[in-house]
Amino acid sequence: MNIKNCVKCGKVYVYDNYKLCRNCRKLEEEDFQKVKQYIYDNPGATMQEISSETGVSIQRIMKYLREGRLQLREENYNLILDCERCGKAIRTGRYCDRCTDEIHKEFKGINSTKNERFQKSDKEKMYIADRYKK
Ligand SMILES: [Zn+2]
Ligand SMILES: [Zn+2]
Repeated sequence: MNIKNCVKCGKVYVYDNYKLCRNCRKLEEEDFQKVKQYIYDNPGATMQEISSETGVSIQRIMKYLREGRLQLREENYNLILDCERCGKAIRTGRYCDRCTDEIHKEFKGINSTKNERFQKSDKEKMYIADRYKK
């Protein structure tokens, strides 16, 4: 049996791939639900308001957003995250839609064989070059 100390409360618990004991995990989940509910009920609330009303730190709320667990709605524009790649405002996750798209493309580019790339017509190449100029 693998025994560890919980990183949050320090209690000994049976390790099951989580850094927190069951009790702390339950509390974290409750915090998450509180934040989610508060945002839902108060769509115009600022990050500070949410944090002081729910008792959950701004860092944790940001983490929920980064993990994509919390989604912002149109009204939540004051709760803005920025894309880690281009800095554009986003509502959830780490990248804006465009960067997500480009990251996928780059990823595909790495995986595609040389032959596939040579098969592209000159016209298509110019079109792509044009699009990236801006
Ligand atoms: Zn704990
Ligand atoms: Zn971006």
